Amino acid sequence: MSRLQNVLVIGNELALAFEDGEELYLQLDLLRRACPCAACQGEPDALGRVLRPVQQIGPRGFELQKSEVVGGYAIQLFWADGHSTGLYTFDYLRRLAILP
Ligand SMILES: [Zn+2]
Repeated sequence: MSRLQNVLVIGNELALAFEDGEELYLQLDLLRRACPCAACQGEPDALGRVLRPVQQIGPRGFELQKSEVVGGYAIQLFWADGHSTGLYTFDYLRRLAILP
């Protein structure tokens, strides 16, 4: 798997560059709404149903403060409203990415 080389915020987009030359561009508001943590996306109940919780997004919730690479397969995003529990795997980001 290719390693992440660079993470940059450009305007209202997050740009990721991988060592093999792959680049991903993602809108920050889409990224925040797609936050994969259980508080944002819900967890399946015993029957496998997922009740989607109402997301609590603060006034600075679409502002990205920093990001950290986790285990070489994901990044953790720290939003300016204090939310940071979402781990975005590279595969997940590829699915969310803006197509060229
Ligand atoms: Zn979340």
